[in-house]
Amino acid sequence: MPRVHVFLHEKHGRGRQHYAISRANVNKDETMTALKLHDTMTGTKRVFEPADPSRVTMYVCGPTVYSYAHIGNMRPPVAFDVLFRLLRRTYGETAVIYARNFTDIDDRIIDASQKSGEDISVITEKFAKIYVEDTQVLGNLEPTLSPKATEHIEPMIAMTARLIEAGHAYEADGHVLFSVSSFGDYGALGKRDMDDMRAGARVEVASYKRDPGDFVLWKPSSDIEPGWDSPWGRGRPGWHLECSAMTEAHLGETIDIHGGGQDLVFPHHENEIAQSVCSHDGAPMARFWLHNGFLDMGSEKMSKSLGNVKLVHQLTKKWPGEVLRYALLTAHYRAPLEWTHSLLEQSGKSLDRLYGVLRRVTAESGAAVPEAVEAALADDLNTPKALSALFAIAGEANRAIDETERARLASDLLAGGAALGLLQSDPDDWFGLTDMPQGERDRIDALVRDRNAARKAKDFEKADAIRAELTALNILVDDGPEGSIWKTG
Ligand SMILES: [Zn+2]
Repeated sequence: MPRVHVFLHEKHGRGRQHYAISRANVNKDETMTALKLHDTMTGTKRVFEPADPSRVTMYVCGPTVYSYAHIGNMRPPVAFDVLFRLLRRTYGETAVIYARNFTDIDDRIIDASQKSGEDISVITEKFAKIYVEDTQVLGNLEPTLSPKATEHIEPMIAMTARLIEAGHAYEADGHVLFSVSSFGDYGALGKRDMDDMRAGARVEVASYKRDPGDFVLWKPSSDIEPGWDSPWGRGRPGWHLECSAMTEAHLGETIDIHGGGQDLVFPHHENEIAQSVCSHDGAPMARFWLHNGFLDMGSEKMSKSLGNVKLVHQLTKKWPGEVLRYALLTAHYRAPLEWTHSLLEQSGKSLDRLYGVLRRVTAESGAAVPEAVEAALADDLNTPKALSALFAIAGEANRAIDETERARLASDLLAGGAALGLLQSDPDDWFGLTDMPQGERDRIDALVRDRNAARKAKDFEKADAIRAELTALNILVDDGPEGSIWKTG
């Protein structure tokens, strides 16, 4: 279904906006509220300050690449992208090192390869590429680094050897296992006690484990499984090891922020901490641990209306990526979000309203992010509040009479949108008008304007006649608070 919308209102200059940078960035350091982030380790929201402001480090656990990404998989990339943008504004674009890994060796990948007969690298390269495309369609900046597990086997072997030497790991039956009882702080992140974790560890406990909670650092590979030579024979790493080794290799022993979905707290992040802390003489792995909540996909409404479409590459055929991004940002990242058809419809309408302002008023890029938006984001990335702030600015822009004031507010809107990774498309593109001949647009604009005038003059007969004419042209008109929007039916 083509989406063609135009906001009718008096237009100050037609067409494209001028994205020239003409407004100097306001120095935000003095006015900006301190960034507070919720840290899972302490269970509190506290002021974030990097260990070294000239090298701010963030690691987010990335996908295991053997199938299409589910929309729920996009919540971490989008949430941490908003944080990445904020950190870059605060400390400088090149000062922030954001790493997100690709797990390209995993038993699920091996299974997929054995089922399809395709080589593992064919599968992982294909789905890594699709994942990157999905994240780009959703408006995410590329992380600074995207390390792959298979390219870090050596540091993983080295870390395992160090852990054995320090008495934190042991070799048994071709495996190397981390000894959880050797690490007194095991379970500190998720506030769990050892018995809980043992119960949750694995359904069946392998006989070679000294403790049911011990986890695999290295395991043997059969002849048909991929493997690498190691001091413990040909094998492959356990899943948790890669993140510890890649964090160490690229970011250092203690990083500023480690992020991921809340399902990763246990066992993945507990195990990462155990490996990293014990191989780094007790240095903490991260100064802040951030975890995002889940998408609630159980809604009946969703399954009826969308036939259960949950894969990003399918959703993006029906919805612009920006609508999906907006929808993900409507809830605070730590809160659950119910993913419904109406959420997507509402998100599309919200973006129409915001882009409508940008289409009517020429915005300039380079404005500082408005304080209300910055303050909302500084409060543990409160994106719903930041979105409300954008609407407040849009409302002001609509009410402003002075043209300079309107332009300033539109520029604020554009800058506030950028902080969230929104509103950066050309408004004409957003409304699908780029390919519509100008004469056709003018003609429809004129009809809608005449209809509004007729309504205002209470000439309902004429207004209805024009509406019928528009309907015959397959044009639908929505009358909103900011004026009338028309779109093709
Ligand atoms: Zn990880």
